[in-house]
Amino acid sequence: MNFYVLTLFPEMIEQGLSTSITGRAMQKGLVSLSAVNIRDYAANKHKKVDDYTYGGGAGMLMQAQPVYDACMAVQSGLEKPARVVYMTPQGSIFTQQKAKELAQEENLIILCGHYEGIDERVLEEVVTDEISIGDYVLTGGELPAMVVIDTVSRLIPGVLGNGVSADTDSFMNGLLEYPQYSRPEVWRDKAVPAVLLSGDHAKVDQWRREQSLKRTKERRPDLYEKYMEEHPEAEKKGKRKG
Ligand code: SAM
Repeated sequence: MNFYVLTLFPEMIEQGLSTSITGRAMQKGLVSLSAVNIRDYAANKHKKVDDYTYGGGAGMLMQAQPVYDACMAVQSGLEKPARVVYMTPQGSIFTQQKAKELAQEENLIILCGHYEGIDERVLEEVVTDEISIGDYVLTGGELPAMVVIDTVSRLIPGVLGNGVSADTDSFMNGLLEYPQYSRPEVWRDKAVPAVLLSGDHAKVDQWRREQSLKRTKERRPDLYEKYMEEHPEAEKKGKRKG
């Protein structure tokens, strides 16, 4: 999968994603990342990309022209037009479901705003999706873009390493994941649940499922309710097992 990030701070994107799992995914060629500097597309000699907002008010706005030209430069190099995601607090909230959907794309363009945001007219022209990472406002779209790229990348086969899959992670099946333990068996008088040492895979699976349901019910009643509506048989099973 190829990510193209339109940004005023390309080094932030490159540095933020070049280490750990996303870095290795790029080295292996499973994911590619191009951070495109919007400033390179400014048509004026001072390479200015922002200006005051019409109607008054403090703060600067990113202008339409350099954003449009940067986006078109990327699109013109692709076989078919890619989706263009604008990171904005006004977009729909990013979810694992959205990440799964985006992971199906071959190319994805992600647009990062800064200052007061971006001139509305270019957003109307080029953007296909608006995504927010939560109900709060950051200084720029770079961290949100990295959140999206990291989340989408780990869903691409091979990125998490051989045999490791994101399938049991929280939200993948609509529930939170069960608690997990590693060595030693007892730590500060706390023992690992005996069932996990039993070697009985069916029992382990059943325990994990129950814990997953219990945890989701306690911590995210909203998710639990939605899950139960979609899987009414899970309620019966949960009750039977106490
Ligand atoms: N004036 C804008 C508003 O009130 O909607 C906020 C602009 S914000 C200071 C600058 C840029 O940061 C935005 O253009 C967007 O790209 C990014 N940004 C800020 N908060 C975000 C969030 N919660 N999710 C995604 N992007 C965000």
